[in-house]
Amino acid sequence: MLDAVARSAPKFLKSQWHHRSSYAPDTATDGDRKEHDNAKHQTERALHDRRRDEHCDSSDHAGQRSINCPQQHFLNWRTGGQQVILEIVALCGSCVVRFLVITGAGVSAESGIPTFRGKDGYWRNIDPAKLATPEAFARDPRLVWEWYRERRLQIRNAQPNGAHRAIAKLAQQSRDLLLITQNVDDLHARAGAPAEKMVQIHGDIFVTRCSRCEFGWRDYAQGQEQENRDAQLPRCAECGALMRPGVVWFGEQLPWNELQQVESYLQQGPCDYVVVAGTTATFGYVIDWALRASRSSGELIEVNPEETPLSQFATRLLRERAAVALPRLVKQLIDQ
Ligand SMILES: [Zn+2]
Repeated sequence: MLDAVARSAPKFLKSQWHHRSSYAPDTATDGDRKEHDNAKHQTERALHDRRRDEHCDSSDHAGQRSINCPQQHFLNWRTGGQQVILEIVALCGSCVVRFLVITGAGVSAESGIPTFRGKDGYWRNIDPAKLATPEAFARDPRLVWEWYRERRLQIRNAQPNGAHRAIAKLAQQSRDLLLITQNVDDLHARAGAPAEKMVQIHGDIFVTRCSRCEFGWRDYAQGQEQENRDAQLPRCAECGALMRPGVVWFGEQLPWNELQQVESYLQQGPCDYVVVAGTTATFGYVIDWALRASRSSGELIEVNPEETPLSQFATRLLRERAAVALPRLVKQLIDQ
């Protein structure tokens, strides 16, 4: 499975996939694994602590004290005033912990949104993976729109679950967090995940955009009745071409702005915790982001009932449903 992913991924990713290569999970016994996990955990904890110590580089000069930390919080104050010092130390301490959270269809499936995988995801006996393509839209745009309208209705009627709420809580309470979701629904947002900390890397199902030019809108507010009434295929007011759902279809490029947001976050420094939940991680870029973000000594935590291509790189595996595991995990991360 990993080979399949490795072959389909860009070449520059491959070397990074082996940054934990001293351990061969396929051949290790349970005892080896445990010993390896303990040793790895201790090493990582030591590295983590050292990084935390190094994080705030403070110095005295010209009667002032300054702190310059990698998160671009440059602070200085005149020497003296214990309260001020404590406040600044607290501020810098809270910005030390960086999070990257990546979610996939498994998180929304627990709110009743069918995934694309397996017979459960079929619609009118059609495999949705065959509808979510530019070719399917070119062949039969009415059929594709009917499916997306039903899916919009389904999402409007669904409610965020414990996983969405836990991630929203972590996002609200963390100074430095990015949530990358592969889900096109709005359940993370409705649970309270701040928009500025979230990237919908596969688009937004409530956006309708032109298949030719840049024209588009987000029509969530128009509501359910509009979906039912709007039986005509929408056309672009600017150029007359067919409008299409604002999602990324199979075989299409990821959206530029969202990709830049992810790259910019990763370039700001490594993460202390990378949580990957409810995704089979079949896209090479999901593995790439998770490994790059956890590259120094960060924990890579996978939440998935089943093994995925990412599992062998994880430092912690939670083999449970996201709605069960995430509330507990988030509590641990917040309380520590
Ligand atoms: Zn247009």
